Amino acid sequence: MSENVRVRFAPSPTGRLHIGGARTALFNWAYARRHGGKFILRVEDTDRERSTAEFESAILEGMSWLGMDWDEGPVVGGDFGPYRQSERLEAHLEVAEELEKGGHAYRCFCTSERLGELREKQIATKQTAAYDRKCTALTQDEVTHNLAAGLPSVLRFRVPEGETKFTDEIRGDVSFSNKEVDDWIMLRADGSPTYNFVVVCDDSAMKITHVIRGEEHLTNTPKQVLLYRALGLEAPSFAHLPLILGTDKKKLSKRTGDTALDDYRERGFPPEAVMNFLCLQGWALDGETEVFSIDQLAKNFAFSAVSKGGSVFDLQKFLWLAGEYTQKGELEALVERAKPFMVSAGLMTQAELSERGEWLKAAIGSVQERVRIYSEIPEQLAYLFATDAEVVYDEKAVKNAKKRGVDAMSNYFEWVRPRLESSSTPAELREETRTWIGENGFKFPDLFQPLRCALTGAAGGPDLFDVMELLGPESSLARIQHGLSRLVDSE
Ligand code: GLU
Repeated sequence: MSENVRVRFAPSPTGRLHIGGARTALFNWAYARRHGGKFILRVEDTDRERSTAEFESAILEGMSWLGMDWDEGPVVGGDFGPYRQSERLEAHLEVAEELEKGGHAYRCFCTSERLGELREKQIATKQTAAYDRKCTALTQDEVTHNLAAGLPSVLRFRVPEGETKFTDEIRGDVSFSNKEVDDWIMLRADGSPTYNFVVVCDDSAMKITHVIRGEEHLTNTPKQVLLYRALGLEAPSFAHLPLILGTDKKKLSKRTGDTALDDYRERGFPPEAVMNFLCLQGWALDGETEVFSIDQLAKNFAFSAVSKGGSVFDLQKFLWLAGEYTQKGELEALVERAKPFMVSAGLMTQAELSERGEWLKAAIGSVQERVRIYSEIPEQLAYLFATDAEVVYDEKAVKNAKKRGVDAMSNYFEWVRPRLESSSTPAELREETRTWIGENGFKFPDLFQPLRCALTGAAGGPDLFDVMELLGPESSLARIQHGLSRLVDSE
């Protein structure tokens, strides 16, 4: 059976890709890869008003960014296309007709006023709000007559009595009383099909073996299982993934965090970290390993390690995980990924990126161990681009510097100036400076605290000789000189 695994991700291009959707895609992809099956991408664009081509391409791009490929779907094609739901309408209507002929679906001519009143009455008498099946009493002649007279109608599914059971790969046995399942609408009055109807048409036509999707769809599943039965088809296996919860323990919403994948991309989270973190929302590799690659996911993904309960989205952990990738990855790759962030922060132009490639590499190398997401790189390097007279001093840096006074820095300036102006590079002065401090009766912080403030404006950061190397002798000396007056004056 394993070679036959066919799973699908079925996004609606009515908005940006939600991180929960991205996780659903990853788990589907991983399940297909683990079992040597096929991963299908189907665009559910039946909401013609809200679906756009831009959202569709952004979703596809987001999936590729995370490292997923698909075997069938838009762009790549396949034997079970078309892969856009809106292009499959004819097939949907054929299935609807078959169900209507077989008595599994019926025309309903009830007006929205009648349905509204019915609902109000049911709510008032504390009954489950459901359609009362008035139109099932219509004879075939009455239906034909109404249709010929142009009366608007919908097509409803006739839910049989009893119970609907299915086994969820994650939750085990699930059962719903059919009384809870309303005679739901398959075709709207304008003839357009609804989600629960087309999803079954397409999943069965595309020979999907496992439907892996978010828990919010669990209540749709009995409707779909009943539809498979009515069509005389075997339903696929279902796996409903736990919700991703916000810190308020409710479904993650914009209020408790960024919900669109692109928000994290734009903030400079490494795609490998996003993939890794999303998988940790409800799945564990072995209960211990937190940092893993997409290949490890593909080799190890199993429903048995997916949790039933919702997982809380912890941004601090996400940032930590991002740092694991940023800090431990290759510097060259980090530089490439950081470049657009240097440009969008207004620190460098495209031309400067190539002219000062080696310098940029050294600059990013100096902060690599301290950054987690790419947007932190321009933040941490901004001091290098400041005017020497206007380096922004932060409060803590000034406090640390003032505690030491400028005595050591003032003497050091006299000593270091001729050296920097002649041939010494800052790096060469590292050891000599340490000797100079001792010989002049100072302690290291007496020099380094004010010097750090003068050069960078911050209380912590890279090695100061690396900083001077990046600034160059001229700028380093100018900053020390400005520091000597600024740290004595009112600041
Ligand atoms: N288009 C549906 C959604 O985006 C798909 C649900 C499903 O996987 O069945 O929620």
